[in-house]
Amino acid sequence: MEVIYFMMHAKSNNKILITGGYGYIGSHTIVALHTVGYEVIVVDNLSNSTKKIGKNLEIICKKTHKLYEINILNFDELLNCFIKEKPAAVIHFAGLKAVEESVKNPLLYYQNNIQGTINLLDIMGKVDCNNIIFSSSATVYGNPSEMPINEKHILNAINPYGSTKIFCEKIIDDWVKVNKKRSSTILRYFNPIGAHESYLIGDNPNSVPNNLMPYIVSVANGTSEKVSIFGDDYPTKDGTGIRDYIHVMDLAEAHVLAILNDQRGRSRVYNLGTGKGISVLELIKTFEIENKVKVKYTVSSRREGDAAEVYADVKLVKNQLNWSANRTLKEMCKSAWSFGKNL
Ligand code: NAD
Ligand code: UDP
Repeated sequence: MEVIYFMMHAKSNNKILITGGYGYIGSHTIVALHTVGYEVIVVDNLSNSTKKIGKNLEIICKKTHKLYEINILNFDELLNCFIKEKPAAVIHFAGLKAVEESVKNPLLYYQNNIQGTINLLDIMGKVDCNNIIFSSSATVYGNPSEMPINEKHILNAINPYGSTKIFCEKIIDDWVKVNKKRSSTILRYFNPIGAHESYLIGDNPNSVPNNLMPYIVSVANGTSEKVSIFGDDYPTKDGTGIRDYIHVMDLAEAHVLAILNDQRGRSRVYNLGTGKGISVLELIKTFEIENKVKVKYTVSSRREGDAAEVYADVKLVKNQLNWSANRTLKEMCKSAWSFGKNL
């Protein structure tokens, strides 16, 4: 990222409120925002993060970012925070994200993710804060009918978590339409992995990981026994599932561009991925070679609802925000392990 370019373009009210800022992607985005001179306010209830992240961000940024330990479902506390801080924009990461849990407890997901977003927008309207960047997901495309997936692909969530993302996208879109001063950027993440080069922040869920990369790390560091590869009979190059893995710092930097290129009155939607498909086996092998560690695995049956391959068409975000991912799969694997080996 061209630091000087961004510093020159940093806007006058440079205070950004980050919900879920102590989480995996939020913490990396704080570093990216700090690098270009933004002031960051964090709102997080620490349901999937800890205060230690704040200490580590302080070491990386050499600066303290104010934390409001608030549940976004608590309207009054959130409103008071906005009245006090008067942020110029919001990046909304706070949400629950475990697909299986969302199937077992859908109301928890609808309550936290959708009601939380409604509270946030309502409050933003009250305090005249008009720009929101929202963390959406490739999961909104369901089982995609064509590859690579572009932003016009039909939305078809196949689990409650995915449904919350579709509903939130729509609610945000309608909120923007009410007032010409408002704007939104919906960012549909593909598969973020890896860690910041300090290795002080990374993907460290409070419970057993569901996603592939944190699971690989937990096997490599001895916390889990072996990776179950969910199916090797897909119509793919080696039979295992294909995904679009993207370095979390590339992803973080896209948020900075979304803020800098805000266009009043507009709702924008972008895929964030590399545009390249990588199989489960390729990821495990690259991890082993780069880090010189063994990752035990076994092949089990397919996971319900998994698509054979999912990778992004990333032309739109390249054309409109001049953003593309440039860190390699090797860098993703190396940084994931440098962060995860001591967990
Ligand atoms: P994360 O769980 O690491 O971070 C989310 C943070 O939000 C946590 O710190 C948690 O404590 C906080 N939070 C949750 N509910 C809250 C509430 N009601 N009030 C206040 N704070 C709350 O998750 P992440 O991986 O950083 O994901 C961030 C966002 O990106 C989520 O919305 C997620 O759905 C979305 N996303 C993530 C991925 C991924 O693979 N990590 C992929 C696509 C989309
Ligand atoms: N996967 C796997 N074993 C695991 C976790 C995931 O084989 O323990 C596979 C999964 O089937 C998919 C890929 O790894 O093909 C990425 O899965 P993940 O849950 O990380 O992301 P998503 O399914 O949301 O793309």
